[in-house]
Amino acid sequence: MRRFDYLRPRSVAEAVAAGAEQGTQFLAGGTTQLDLMKDGVLSLRRLVDLTRLPLRAVSLDGDTLLVGALVTMEQLVVHPLLEGAAVVREALLAGASVQLRNMATIGGNLLQRTRCRYFRDPAVARCNKREPGSGCAALMGHARPHAILGAGPNCIAAHASDLAVALVALDAAVDITGTTGDRTVPLTEFYSVAADRPDQENALAAGDLVTQVRIPLPANHSRSGYLKVRDRASYEFALTSAAVLLELDGDMIRSARVGLGGVGTVPWRARRAEQLLTGAPSTTAAFRSAADAEMVGAFTVPGTEFKVELAKRTLLRQLETVAALHSSGAGR
Ligand code: SF4
Repeated sequence: MRRFDYLRPRSVAEAVAAGAEQGTQFLAGGTTQLDLMKDGVLSLRRLVDLTRLPLRAVSLDGDTLLVGALVTMEQLVVHPLLEGAAVVREALLAGASVQLRNMATIGGNLLQRTRCRYFRDPAVARCNKREPGSGCAALMGHARPHAILGAGPNCIAAHASDLAVALVALDAAVDITGTTGDRTVPLTEFYSVAADRPDQENALAAGDLVTQVRIPLPANHSRSGYLKVRDRASYEFALTSAAVLLELDGDMIRSARVGLGGVGTVPWRARRAEQLLTGAPSTTAAFRSAADAEMVGAFTVPGTEFKVELAKRTLLRQLETVAALHSSGAGR
């Protein structure tokens, strides 16, 4: 039995004040947090249950979708305002079973911890994310699910969220309330690559609460989609994934936005690929060059080498799929 205090604040201000105390964590859908507590990975003094907070609205501000942090994945996936953002809808559907989507919140999804089996097993001593300076058991262990971008000898843990991959491609941002006030942080700046500080995963300080996600909706003439490649069709995390948005002008690419999943220690924004695609012809050769460029410098260990080629093929296929939507006039 591990004792901890349990609080149910009724306002964001109360939650932030309670969350700032040392040894405190927030609880939303509980689909990850409770497992980690039971497994002894998290030992808390206090759990602050957010479920009474008024953070469940979905609304539109101009072309930006505002999603409360406590909206569930399922509520968002069926919401009419998500029409026109296929890449987000597909990432949500690929991200979890319907049972999990009914419990898991959008805020919790973005903040979920890595699925690295060594991180989740306190009997394993070497994990820089749990115990800074202790080493990394995954480097010479079971590495198949792990990252090759933003990775290094300190940590190769992949970020597990599919939704976050779509959202970084869309330039989404999170609203945060903390003890020093409110701020908005683009998701591309929110996460910290594990190669630097495995134990420091994002820009949140003690007491900081993600209250809302801002999702700029794609323009009418763009097309988008999400492809997830995994070892089985359901209940499985990505080996590789690609979120792609393309705007075409005839056969030329006017703009391209790309996120990659399963390969990054953070939801990976593929800037090099985007640079090469923008202004290029919409051809398989151009798509292949962009995919090759993004993988230059990938950090691999025995067990992750295959991901370099798999990630290239995943991106190539999704670029072809989204480009074909333009030709057929289908989907958004
Ligand atoms: Fe820990 Fe990261 Fe190594 Fe996994 S990959 S054992 S999380 S340091």
